[in-house]
Amino acid sequence: MEEIIRPVERLKDEAPETCIICGETKAQGIKIVSEFICEECEAEMVHTDVKDEKYDFFIHQMKQIWVQLNA
Ligand SMILES: [Zn+2]
Repeated sequence: MEEIIRPVERLKDEAPETCIICGETKAQGIKIVSEFICEECEAEMVHTDVKDEKYDFFIHQMKQIWVQLNA
């Protein structure tokens, strides 16, 4: 997952955005292409094991970003 998170823009003092993972509006987090991930979800993703059920959910959400990247 670190490979995914590296080439991103970290938001600072910007307007809150809606996290694509938890759906909550947060001011702190990272932005990948045009999708925002809050810092709580970012931290959780980094520590989620591949065998964890949540991992599949994260991957599913992240696919929305890949679709945009390849558009
Ligand atoms: Zn979140």
